[in-house]
Amino acid sequence: MRAGPSQEEIRRHNLGTLLRHVHLSGPTSRAELAGRMGLNRSTIMALTADLTAAGLVREELPRETGRAGRPSLVVRPESARVYVLAFDVGVDRLVAARVGIGGVILDRRETVRPRGGFEMPEVVAALAGFARQMHRKTRPDTVCVGAAAAICGSVGRTDGVVRFGPNIGFKDAPFGEELSKRLALGLPVTVGNDGNVGAIAEQSRGVGIGCRDLIYLHGDVGIGGGIVVNGQLLGGLAGYGGEVGHMVVNPGGRPCACGSRGCLEAEVGERALMELAGHSTELTGREAVRAVVDAAGRGDVRAQDALHRVGDWLGLGVANLVNIFNPEMVIFGGVLRELYLGAAAQVRSRINTSTLVASREDLRLRISALGDDATVVGAAELAFAQVLADPLEVLSRLA
Ligand SMILES: [Zn+2]
Repeated sequence: MRAGPSQEEIRRHNLGTLLRHVHLSGPTSRAELAGRMGLNRSTIMALTADLTAAGLVREELPRETGRAGRPSLVVRPESARVYVLAFDVGVDRLVAARVGIGGVILDRRETVRPRGGFEMPEVVAALAGFARQMHRKTRPDTVCVGAAAAICGSVGRTDGVVRFGPNIGFKDAPFGEELSKRLALGLPVTVGNDGNVGAIAEQSRGVGIGCRDLIYLHGDVGIGGGIVVNGQLLGGLAGYGGEVGHMVVNPGGRPCACGSRGCLEAEVGERALMELAGHSTELTGREAVRAVVDAAGRGDVRAQDALHRVGDWLGLGVANLVNIFNPEMVIFGGVLRELYLGAAAQVRSRINTSTLVASREDLRLRISALGDDATVVGAAELAFAQVLADPLEVLSRLA
């Protein structure tokens, strides 16, 4: 017979759970934590004492409660002291942020770059440079407990290798390892696909809080996706799952950077929209998409037709996902926010005609609440994963 978990294992698990609560919910009273975790107050007090001694949380009297009697102390994450480094490599920008426990963005750096192929050493050097700049401004008692990056490409689950990132010119690039070396913090850098990372962000801090089954779609040049099923991100065998951008919606349609034709990202991407609307494909990004939506709103028939066509393909892609996954929510992020706002009726109509009623009856379609920060916020959550799983072990390793 297998022995149950030891007292020590239970304690570690509870420390992580308590820290996760205050990380995601912010300052929380001991009484509330006891209720949520199903533990008695003295256990909560002991766990909080351990986390306080480690410098991960602090306790304080709550602000005016309006109630009589002794107030329950509030446990607050030490956001200014314990932080992670979060990076985002997008098609036209690089972002680095220092994010405190509790999800507070303490500092950030960003550079906008022209599109096209990036050289990995150049990207790594730029991000590490940002990290150094931010590090110089930290107080001596701060501690970095993790690092992670979001990137627009397919990434292996465990090795941080970007297998295929056609829109930034990365192929089999050992990005996580190189960035970790360059940061020289003695920490590995976890790397995640931008769609997957955005899904984590929206679920933990955005429009999908409390949602256990959601699909996040992230658009820039391509379309990335993250599929969360029963609270877990769907990665497949090696982490490459959820590449909804390469779902074929139009066999024999527009050529895609992956070598196939008629992929969702080829039919719905910026380039398709610009061409259909008769706008210059020199223009890119959110402003370009917004210009088409605005033109359609002013009665420009060609722009209206373009939105109609693209909205139809987007709706078809979402309909396929709805039939397969029966999500509670589908979230449109990146430039898909603008696109969805301009073509919502078309998207909705296609979903209504192409999905089973039972699969869509409780479906909510939403735009990203975190906007451009979704990827960097999600990268921070990846970076916090270790310390939330075993807080004291991670801190002792760094000490
Ligand atoms: Zn493709």
